[in-house]
Amino acid sequence: MKIKRWLSGAFCLLFLAACSRNPVNESYNLNFYSDADEIRIGEEYHPQIIKEYGGEYNAPALRAYVQNIVNRLGDVSHRPQLVYPVTLLDSNEINAFAIPGGHVYVCRGLLAYINSEAELAGVMGHEIGHVNAKHGLQRMSKSTGFNLGAVILSLLLFQDDEDKQNTAYRVGQTVFNVALLSYSREDEMEADRLGIEYENKAGFSPLGVGRVMTMFERLSGVSSQLSTVLSTHPASSDRSKQARIEVRKLEEKGSINRELNRERYLEQINGLVTSAKGQPVKQLQIYTVQKGDAWDNLAARYFNGDAAKKLAWFNGCELSEPLPARIKLGLF
Ligand SMILES: [Zn+2]
Repeated sequence: MKIKRWLSGAFCLLFLAACSRNPVNESYNLNFYSDADEIRIGEEYHPQIIKEYGGEYNAPALRAYVQNIVNRLGDVSHRPQLVYPVTLLDSNEINAFAIPGGHVYVCRGLLAYINSEAELAGVMGHEIGHVNAKHGLQRMSKSTGFNLGAVILSLLLFQDDEDKQNTAYRVGQTVFNVALLSYSREDEMEADRLGIEYENKAGFSPLGVGRVMTMFERLSGVSSQLSTVLSTHPASSDRSKQARIEVRKLEEKGSINRELNRERYLEQINGLVTSAKGQPVKQLQIYTVQKGDAWDNLAARYFNGDAAKKLAWFNGCELSEPLPARIKLGLF
């Protein structure tokens, strides 16, 4: 009995001590880690992530370009004191993510799908948003808190049976880890809001976040590469709707930048490798549209078939829209 009271008291104390103010929304969250811990954790994970994703994608100019965008967003974020180092990953997965401490990762697969600087800044703003709101860290703290709670609970429930204690602990831990594999819908929506806020403050077009969402929605039916990003970042109509509302709010306060900087972005990704590792190398080429070109005749010329809709979507357009001055070829 004594030990029970001691344990529950200790647990409550620990819980109170671990609540800290969130830099983004001023609410109190469970967080066992200081900023220094957070950076150390990030540095520990960093090499593992690079290994897991098949190494770094070696493109110094492109990396510098993405880093510059991320620096501008980081400077206007809620945690400008953090460094946000960018790593390009040699994977054609359509994915980007950030880890506690500020490391930001972009797979080349995602860079191939993006169509403008505003869209790239939108994705990066979203990822930095997760770091600023400490979403990953809270997940880790909950996991730590839970593991501790699970130990205490299994001790209390099965005081005389060590085997039962171990089993109860393991089952509880597995259930909880599965629940932690993806951010909550609320976290995603908060990261979207922060992404739009940072984009706007840093001078990018805040239309980027919404455009990326549209891209995911369009492509979810046509590309198997999307499965990973969609499982962690569900493209929902709620999120698209929220992105439109946030942009409207900004417009009510003053004029917003509507320049997507499509050309500037396309120049940066000319020649990007688009094939999966181990497959014959395919590279993206930026094609200058000629007089007489249309989605359907270009699709017929380059893909031997009726892929006009796919080609238009891949370039961030609907089939009904006119061709922009330059388009991307070479993804499929
Ligand atoms: Zn996210």
